[in-house]
Amino acid sequence: MTTAMCYQVKTAAGTTSPRGVSLNVLDTAPAANPLSNGITGPRDISYVKMLRISVTDVCNLRCVYCMPEEGVEWLGKSEILSFEEIAAVVRASVRLGITHFKLTGGEPTARKDLPVLVALLRAIDGVRDLSLTTNGILLGPQLVKLKAAGLDRITVSMDSLRPERFSEITRGGDFHRVWAAIEQALAMGFERVKINVVVMRGMNENEVADFAGLTKRWPVTVRFIEFMPLGRSGLTDNPLESMVTESQMRSQIESAHGLLQPVDRTSERGVGPANVWRIDEGVGRVGFISAMSKPFCDTCNRLRMTPEGLMRSCLFDGGEVDLKPILRSETHQAASTQTPAEHNTGNLVGLDERVMRAMTECVALKLDTHSFTGNKAMNRIGG
Ligand code: SAM
Ligand code: SF4
Repeated sequence: MTTAMCYQVKTAAGTTSPRGVSLNVLDTAPAANPLSNGITGPRDISYVKMLRISVTDVCNLRCVYCMPEEGVEWLGKSEILSFEEIAAVVRASVRLGITHFKLTGGEPTARKDLPVLVALLRAIDGVRDLSLTTNGILLGPQLVKLKAAGLDRITVSMDSLRPERFSEITRGGDFHRVWAAIEQALAMGFERVKINVVVMRGMNENEVADFAGLTKRWPVTVRFIEFMPLGRSGLTDNPLESMVTESQMRSQIESAHGLLQPVDRTSERGVGPANVWRIDEGVGRVGFISAMSKPFCDTCNRLRMTPEGLMRSCLFDGGEVDLKPILRSETHQAASTQTPAEHNTGNLVGLDERVMRAMTECVALKLDTHSFTGNKAMNRIGG
């Protein structure tokens, strides 16, 4: 059941502007948070449970739906947050009630010493779920270290089961290497490995049933993602032409494998925005992330942080708040001195307080429903 609410929205500059907005929100009451200021629903910081952290904008592939082939401008090294700065944001996030953290990019495994970051974040009390989304090319040799550092879950992107086509879509990726990394992750006991498939008309749409068929043999969750026109990519000229909707994907799967059976969302950790199903006799699961045909903004419980420390309210054109000036200010030396009692009364000091307030401002910038296009490519936002 859902409820409609009216509330106030804060702008990035910190001014409060009354805005009578009707928004459907989930019934489950979030824990009270002194920073919420009476706001409820997805624009309430207490509602946020997942922070997706893009650890680098750099990538070793150039997937057609994500980036242009050439001319991408990369961030400078000094612009990117250090591991300590990322950990500071995670510490503040935990205090806001955020429990799930996803490392993404760009290609996170291309960031030097990724397992060191994983260990740093794992050691923070309150981090319940730590996961990684990767293109899998560099994953195999890092798996042992990542697991030892405390990584819980892995999602691998794989848009075709045909090596040649895989290479075309990723502009050069080696299918066999990625598949071997998936098999290795399963053999190492990573809990329900996910496979992300962006489905595009005229490219891989005829493989949807084959991908769903994988779940008969493998205990993986295959998530079909609708293409989203974000930033500049190989598909931006005519995005509508490339889009395949969830209902079109479903009918392909059901003609090949019979009716999809619903799966209880609570039975799967880290389900996120996907709605989850299984095919008859399937050991794995099938999910759909249908941001274009069925936007899920009214139940969105996530924030994203870019590699340079912009906290972003939405994948599309939602507002953002810059954390870097806070993280790099001289005054944050007094950080992390709050007691739980100070937290509960809203009497906060130091770095944690400033990051928490900035995140609270950011979540209030979420739109009722996202726009059709987004101003930044996924590799910058942390998809
Ligand atoms: N490089 C890693 C990877 O590809 O898994 C992590 C970052 S990538 C931006 C995260 C996810 O976003 C991938 O599953 C990718 O397929 C998806 N993605 C990127 N651009 C997209 C777009 N325009 N529409 C839908 N999904 C997209
Ligand atoms: Fe790189 Fe991932 Fe974007 Fe592909 S989807 S270009 S692997 S960041």
